[in-house]
Amino acid sequence: MGAKKSKCSFDRIWKDVSPQLVQDPYTSWEQLSAKQKVRKVHGVSRNTAKAEGHTRFVCLSDTHSKTDRLDVPEGDVLLHSGDFSRMGRPDEVQKFNEFLGRLPHRYKIVIAGNHELTFDVASFEKTSFRFLGGKTCDSEAVRALLTNCIYLQDEATEVLGFKIYGSPWQPEFCDWAFNLPRGKALQDKWAMIPNDIDILMTHGPPIGHGDLCFSGDRAGCVDLLREIQTRIKPKYHVFGHIHEGYGMTTDGQTVFVNASTCSYQYTPTQPPIVFDLPGKRQQKAK
Ligand code: MN
Ligand code: MN
Repeated sequence: MGAKKSKCSFDRIWKDVSPQLVQDPYTSWEQLSAKQKVRKVHGVSRNTAKAEGHTRFVCLSDTHSKTDRLDVPEGDVLLHSGDFSRMGRPDEVQKFNEFLGRLPHRYKIVIAGNHELTFDVASFEKTSFRFLGGKTCDSEAVRALLTNCIYLQDEATEVLGFKIYGSPWQPEFCDWAFNLPRGKALQDKWAMIPNDIDILMTHGPPIGHGDLCFSGDRAGCVDLLREIQTRIKPKYHVFGHIHEGYGMTTDGQTVFVNASTCSYQYTPTQPPIVFDLPGKRQQKAK
């Protein structure tokens, strides 16, 4: 997969996508998918020894407070792409933090999802009224309960030489936390993502990868895929949110991981996804 060749073809594909089309993910993907290939890929088996000089990443998402019997493979870096709780209540955040504390991974990186109501200050008054009986909450204090991980909210971190960026936003979905309308509002969030990212974590999927709902609709963000294919080009994009979209795909440039642990029925039956990356000594030239 020549990076140069795929860059040119992706740029050409996106020239034809109008701002109106971005509002209609299903039709967007009907057009876009005719011009690119999506292949299913597989992660590494947890029983396969890591190759010399590699870093092992273990991906979870959408555990929704159902971590009691979760069997998490060993690795160097644990990634969790949001919806670790059901409502973001302090007791749930505390329980999740204790679960993280029991895991052996050297680094644990976590973002929020639409279920972490208390983490989204702007929407909390509204969501609290709907879901938590109007309880007030100190968002900073709840966030401070996450002591056993690196929490990312529209920011990057670097671990073991890999640059990782995390963002909780997704296209509007029944007025939960971190919802934004398709178009300008989400584009502004994706524009914040730097170019030199190795692994991108978002809560929601991009269009066309791990975003097909049982209803037949596509929930993915068209603008997110545009940014990924034409500018950011991360090695991996790890997300969740659409539980039934669990699995791995590639467009030949980036590997897309829907790591949803809970199924459509909210049972934690979908195993963590594992991948290895060769260690790196210097920054990617870009
Ligand atoms: Mn979820
Ligand atoms: Mn979600």
